[in-house]
Amino acid sequence: MAMPDKKLVLPLLVPAAVIFAAAAILWQWPQMTPRSTEIRALMVLLPVLPFALFVLVAATGLRYGNAGLLLSALALALCYAFVGSPGPDLLKGHPAKSAALLLLPLNIGVFSTLMRRRLKTAVGIGCLLALIFQAVGVLWLSGRLASSVDASVSRIVSGAAPDLGATLEAAGGALASTFSVSGGTISVAAAICFAAVALFLLVRFFLRRNALTAGLAGALAAAFLSGSGEASAMAPTVYYTAAGLILAAAGIESSFTLAYTDELTGLPGRRRLNEELINLGKRYSLAMIDVDHFKKFNDRYGHDAGDQVLQMIGKKLAGLGGGGRAFRYGGEEFTAVFPGKEVDEALPYLERYRRQVAANGFVVRGKQRKKSGPESRKAPPNRKKAVQVTVSIGLAGLKKGVTDPVRVLKLADQALYRAKNAGRNRIRTDEGGD
Ligand code: GH3
Ligand code: MG
Ligand code: MG
Repeated sequence: MAMPDKKLVLPLLVPAAVIFAAAAILWQWPQMTPRSTEIRALMVLLPVLPFALFVLVAATGLRYGNAGLLLSALALALCYAFVGSPGPDLLKGHPAKSAALLLLPLNIGVFSTLMRRRLKTAVGIGCLLALIFQAVGVLWLSGRLASSVDASVSRIVSGAAPDLGATLEAAGGALASTFSVSGGTISVAAAICFAAVALFLLVRFFLRRNALTAGLAGALAAAFLSGSGEASAMAPTVYYTAAGLILAAAGIESSFTLAYTDELTGLPGRRRLNEELINLGKRYSLAMIDVDHFKKFNDRYGHDAGDQVLQMIGKKLAGLGGGGRAFRYGGEEFTAVFPGKEVDEALPYLERYRRQVAANGFVVRGKQRKKSGPESRKAPPNRKKAVQVTVSIGLAGLKKGVTDPVRVLKLADQALYRAKNAGRNRIRTDEGGD
């Protein structure tokens, strides 16, 4: 049976586990009150925890130039401040609370599309201003702003726009029509927005496999549950803490993927290979795989077609079988690591792979590079023809006196060199000579 894709399962499993833990903590909360007065005094700090996590996530977003993450953390922090945090409840029972909960999923939905944008771009700054504008709007809707700002300003506002005030009041009333979730309340409109955006994020995650998108869906789910938690005063603190943890974990997972995965082929890259080599046991074999005459291929069909070949070759190598793990070593070179397998045992899998690649003609799609060089004039490439792509492979294992995996890899590289010299599209082992 095929193993479920780790990149698909983990980013969904972590948010689910954190939300489950949050629900369990809330359920047990009445019994969890500690006896020690010191600890009880420390618990006063708990409501600050979500803010600390959101600041951490926002700082990460700023550091990595990820406006989507930064703005999502800010939106969650604002929503928690308005709707969730205990103490003087700014908006309790007010239509403004419904407005804040309605805006949160819409904001997150938009921000999820800005994961590769910097904040200092027109769209980044625009979204930040929109968020600030919304925060002011929600406060105004609640009536808090008018009472807290200078009275003269409030007089000007109400004098200049009395109709607007009434309209907002009516709109707030409509928003506040409620929807019951496990004893709590949340407006129907907000619930629909939460569900629609969560679905949008999940579909996006399945298409792009970015852990952060799954994290946003999880954070949204946690925020939704907090809106339903009037049964316990701690619900917002616990669920927004969960949302912060989910986003932080998704940020770590996404950075890990960025650092270790080769973007073109989706295979783990050189850094990951180096770690794999350090952690190998006492039995293994290593193979170096190199595309034959790839420079010529690029010159003839263009760099984009070359990239597609690398993707095809990488994808096939990922399904090597026999426990072989594939890495992109760099350029048009790949490495396969067979933990627990000696050269003889790994050889059949590599041989099957080599044959598959050679048999699988590569159809050059799209525009071909227009080259003014003599080569392209001499041999105009046929657009529809399948081009044969082949690989040469060098394979080596542990032997007397060679125990360092880096040296074994060198032996595999030397074997690869012999495979090239022997005519390419073949495998040579370290023991085999040429
Ligand atoms: P050999 O059969 O001896 O391996 O010949 P070769 O042409 O494959 O080897 P050479 O080392 O001379 O050229 C490797 C080429 O691979 C050069 C470079 O343009 C190409 N290449 C390296 N990385 C990439 C990449 O990411 N995309 C594309 N399209 N080409 C790449
Ligand atoms: Mg090469
Ligand atoms: Mg090559």
